[in-house]
Amino acid sequence: MRIEQELKLGFKDVLFRPKRSNLKSRSQVNLTREFTFKHSGRQWSGVPVIAANMDSVGSFAMASALAKHGVMTAIHKHYDVAQWREFVVSADSTTLKNVMVSTGTSDADFEKTKQVLALSDDLMFICIDIANGYSEHLVDYVEKVRATFPDKVITAGNVVTGDMVEELILAGADIVKVGIGPGSVCTTRVKTGVGYPQLSAIIECADAAHGLGGRIIGDGGCTCAGDVSKAFGGGADFVMLGGMLAGHEESGGEIIEQDGKSFMKFYGMSSQSAMDKHSGGVAKYRAAEGKTVLLPYRGPVENTIQDILGGVRSTCTYVGASALRELTKRTTFIRVREQENNVYGKE
Ligand code: 5GP
Repeated sequence: MRIEQELKLGFKDVLFRPKRSNLKSRSQVNLTREFTFKHSGRQWSGVPVIAANMDSVGSFAMASALAKHGVMTAIHKHYDVAQWREFVVSADSTTLKNVMVSTGTSDADFEKTKQVLALSDDLMFICIDIANGYSEHLVDYVEKVRATFPDKVITAGNVVTGDMVEELILAGADIVKVGIGPGSVCTTRVKTGVGYPQLSAIIECADAAHGLGGRIIGDGGCTCAGDVSKAFGGGADFVMLGGMLAGHEESGGEIIEQDGKSFMKFYGMSSQSAMDKHSGGVAKYRAAEGKTVLLPYRGPVENTIQDILGGVRSTCTYVGASALRELTKRTTFIRVREQENNVYGKE
């Protein structure tokens, strides 16, 4: 047994130190980033926020709404090929260029991914997603997908340490998804005791990825726009959001009326709810590692996304970054024991 003594940080452990800035307004801040990806050589330009590939977040409707802001959506993997075909026919090219096709690592997943990608050349992102990205099986699968789709942008995860980021990039991933246990409806840390505070995971994994010309997605744990900024400040190239984008009209969740108020169900992809829906219940050998919650229904996602992007723009003005690209360089985090003042309740 070994203990690492260095304290690892979550979003709640830091704040940005403001810096002198000559920016007069948030409107001067450019959130658009342009990337040319390492293996595929594909170029993408947009606002690098991604709706998570969860049932009640990463829907086709969400993709159409967020693409208007240049924001991406990782489409959850429970749509069938016929539903994809319908979407591809009706969506514009910008929307298609801003979606990720999610997949697991089974042979059936591979066949389905092939069929979906054949629907349009505009579909250029593949998101290979398993809960434990430390499995050698993921590395083999990334190699296989890279060999089959040399010109697609491959995302693989989830991991939280630099060694595994490097291995996945060397296997053919352009982007590595980072986060084990920080999610709003994740119970991995409770069920297994495994995890890594998300800000430190981002800082360490970004360093490893950038050294090889790869990119990372900070996935999970953002509870407010300030956390999204901290993820970018720590070096995340993209930030993935589940809970912050759940509970909206476009999320596709079930609306439940209770005491005259509307709620929407939101659940982890390894929760009992998800497994009941997609796999006929939780298999005997495993425990659910996600929970189910009822969120107040929030209407269209438009206001929420504007609020999030407005917050990130504002962070940039506080530290003097005229573009999101400069935020990490302009970031000094201070370690803190306090965040917001909750005397009148939470925002
Ligand atoms: P959030 O933005 O809600 O904090 O986190 C979203 C992320 O949580 C997802 O992108 C995914 O990585 C993770 N996640 C989603 N469902 C589950 C689950 O059931 N269990 C675990 N461990 N993580 C989940």
